[in-house]
Amino acid sequence: MEKILRRTWAEIDLDALAYNYRKLRRQMGPGAGFLGVVKADAYGHGAVPISKKLEELGAEYLAVSNLEEAEELRHHGVELPLLLLGYTPADMTEMLIDNRVTQDVPSLEAARDYSAAAKVCGKTLKVHLKLDTGMGRLGFQCDEGSFDRSLAEILEAMRLPNLDWEGVFMHFCVADEPDNPEARSFTRLQYQRFVHMVEEVERGANMRFRLHHCCNSGGLMYYPEFAWDMCRPGVVLYGTEPMSRDFGLKPVMTLKTAVGPVKTYPPDTSVSYGRTYFTDRERRIGVLPVGYADGLQRCLSNRWEMMTQDGPARICGRVCMDMCMVDLTDLPNVGTGDEVEVFGPNNPIERMAEMAGTITYELTCCISKRVPRVYLENGRIVGRDLRLQL
Ligand SMILES: *Cc1c(COP(=O)(O)O)cnc(C)c1O
Repeated sequence: MEKILRRTWAEIDLDALAYNYRKLRRQMGPGAGFLGVVKADAYGHGAVPISKKLEELGAEYLAVSNLEEAEELRHHGVELPLLLLGYTPADMTEMLIDNRVTQDVPSLEAARDYSAAAKVCGKTLKVHLKLDTGMGRLGFQCDEGSFDRSLAEILEAMRLPNLDWEGVFMHFCVADEPDNPEARSFTRLQYQRFVHMVEEVERGANMRFRLHHCCNSGGLMYYPEFAWDMCRPGVVLYGTEPMSRDFGLKPVMTLKTAVGPVKTYPPDTSVSYGRTYFTDRERRIGVLPVGYADGLQRCLSNRWEMMTQDGPARICGRVCMDMCMVDLTDLPNVGTGDEVEVFGPNNPIERMAEMAGTITYELTCCISKRVPRVYLENGRIVGRDLRLQL
């Protein structure tokens, strides 16, 4: 690999993405559309190349979390419909329309603001009604106590001008916990609330939404019977989280680095900031040019093991901003220039997430912009992306 890749880089396996896509598509059944969630730079994988690949594979919709992400995709020629999951201030309504972005509508107040703004510019905003069936975030409350008031507000919202109500959706909060009976019954309750509200809204407004959708990754994997018109998988598309393992999906990202200088230290020598590690005997320690500014969490200091060609090498001492040190004493054939897998197929990111007390979503999202993304297809490099402004 060339020079820019001798430091730290993320390989993005587009064949693994295609494999996951096809498997998830089958899981959805024939009636449901595929909405690929590419918010947060496609969970750190690079929103433009991932979106283009999903477009090529036949996805029907994509989702982003804000207008800037949508603009980036449009700027790079992504044509698929885009759903914006999240709040957008109403004074950005015309930009939403001009970028052909579908906005979620979480409240009557938001509906009034979008409608008024769309009316002023003489255009129509495509929207999806957002129902809160138990997530406790955005949307019209659908619990029993709020039902009637929400229904009245929704029907009022749907009479406003310059809004095109294409879809209705909700979000699960514990669908990824299939072994937890409480989570299972709550997920079913969420779905029942959704169905109930949708029925009443469609009856009251005398219409039918074109797209009803509920399933995030957990919903799709464990409750495919709730797929309805469209599913919104995010994390499983990228093949991380334990549920991806359960379903035989492949991790798309491999974070790699290469061994830098190697030194042999006498016993009782401290390594790195804070002197949290001392050599117990003579040890051979390599410096890796990857640190927390690349997205390697500092809480993995003295804990995580990097995968070398000959086996694991544990981090010694604190992870620094741009470097960390690993113990190569028992790996005598590993030396300067050798490739190391920080996480990937041979060094599961799920274990890293558990060790770091977080979820894999956070780890891939936090791979920073100075880490080049290299796109592989059929074993060949088909693209690369470095976000530094060179
Ligand atoms: C992020 C998000 C998704 C995707 O979630 P995953 O757990 O990654 O599948 C789906 N729907 C909504 C509303 C989201 O915010």
